[in-house]
Amino acid sequence: MKIVVASSNKGKIKEIQDYLNEFEVIAYTDLLEKTNIEENADTFKENAIIKANEIYKKLKDRDDIIVLSDDSGISVPALGNIPGIYSARFAGENASDKDNLDKLIKELKDRGIKKTKAFYTCAIALATKEGTFTVHGWLYGEVIDEARGDNGFGYDPMFIPYGYDKTVGELPKEEKEKFSHRTKALKLAKILLKTIKG
Ligand code: IMP
Repeated sequence: MKIVVASSNKGKIKEIQDYLNEFEVIAYTDLLEKTNIEENADTFKENAIIKANEIYKKLKDRDDIIVLSDDSGISVPALGNIPGIYSARFAGENASDKDNLDKLIKELKDRGIKKTKAFYTCAIALATKEGTFTVHGWLYGEVIDEARGDNGFGYDPMFIPYGYDKTVGELPKEEKEKFSHRTKALKLAKILLKTIKG
């Protein structure tokens, strides 16, 4: 059984390989040409399903394969839950992580908000010959109106998890991996994978 990750993001693939190390995990680009999949749904869950199903369709002759996809982002309730599903393209289609981070900091500053509740969501979809399954993980905390620390990626320098006084940018990678939204979703995905594997 091969788990094919429907992403070309090397960091994401490595994190998934590390967590699911008892399985053979490969990138879809090891088997197929790179494709641009349009994530045009309204929820993390539906976008994850679109990605997993699109790749699974192209590989469905192979019954030794499960396709795994992940869709994630950060939501700030005081700002109407933005950027949410638009987290990766908050500052524009080709925006960098830094552009997106700066834009969210500016949104807080413009409203005079120094600190407010926020949460990360990770939806994982598994496309299998038995159907498509989804699981979620969340990480709750607060965002602040400045960036601190260089660890992690994306919005981590402005995100302080509940129970901590440091941003994820200031925490070691191993610490984040203990409680992140992606770890929580992968934990559930692992249970499903073991069940499907039989
Ligand atoms: P995706 O690759 O389409 O799922 O986009 C995920 C986007 O959400 C990333 O580009 C980041 O901006 C943000 N994001 C998701 N997970 C994290 C995280 O663990 N830390 C920081 N930013 C994250």
